Amino acid sequence: MARQFFVGGNFKMNGTKESLTSIIDNLNKAELPSNVEVVIAPPAPYLGLAVTENKQKTVAISAQNVFNKASGAYTGEISPTQLKDLGVHWTLTGHSERRTIIKESDEFIAEKTKFALDNGVSVILCIGETLEERKSGVTLEVTARQLDAVSKIVSDWTNIVIAYEPVWAIGTGLAATSEDAQETHKGIRDHLVKTIGAEQAAKVRILYGGSVNGKNAPDFKDKADVDGFLVGGASLKPEFVDIIKSRL
Ligand code: PEP
Repeated sequence: MARQFFVGGNFKMNGTKESLTSIIDNLNKAELPSNVEVVIAPPAPYLGLAVTENKQKTVAISAQNVFNKASGAYTGEISPTQLKDLGVHWTLTGHSERRTIIKESDEFIAEKTKFALDNGVSVILCIGETLEERKSGVTLEVTARQLDAVSKIVSDWTNIVIAYEPVWAIGTGLAATSEDAQETHKGIRDHLVKTIGAEQAAKVRILYGGSVNGKNAPDFKDKADVDGFLVGGASLKPEFVDIIKSRL
């Protein structure tokens, strides 16, 4: 089963009107392969700007976070219905920076994932283990726990893309080897076979994230269960286009 190659760019809390316009302009000008799905996630204050500047529409725009309510007294939160109103049809959930810094629980992330999906916003669901957990040999137990919170309340995974992002590889310059990534992605898919069924598990895309750059992206080319990347730092640089083209 062929899964479409997917590259996400997570800008995190970086950028200005000027720099983000220039990044999007570069993407507008680049000849991006039509068989790669590209989604960029600018900071919330710039989502409207990104939608307007995304003139070629070869990429889709994503939020970095979403709330599990449509509207109301939830100061500072972002509703999926507001995202759709803006022309934003994707969101990240469960990024490790939100899990660790903002202390979001597996259950809360699952609720936000479900609410986004129920309201027509597709989700890049981020999962991954800390260095301590990796050293203790519990990587697949951690990713299973994070996934199970979602599969308990979400049965249709059509509009979910999973991003496996080992916390120790995010922003450190220490990417997982393609062999290690493949082994974990296979473990994640095997787990999904048991929880959401073989048919859905075969279709869901599993991205690798953690210090991916223009140089190391081609290393993952022949890895059967690595269906793309979620890119942080390098998505703000021109090499993001090289990553998008790394499967050509
Ligand atoms: C991320 O923030 O999702 C990420 C993978 O960051 P980086 O590529 O900078 O490691």
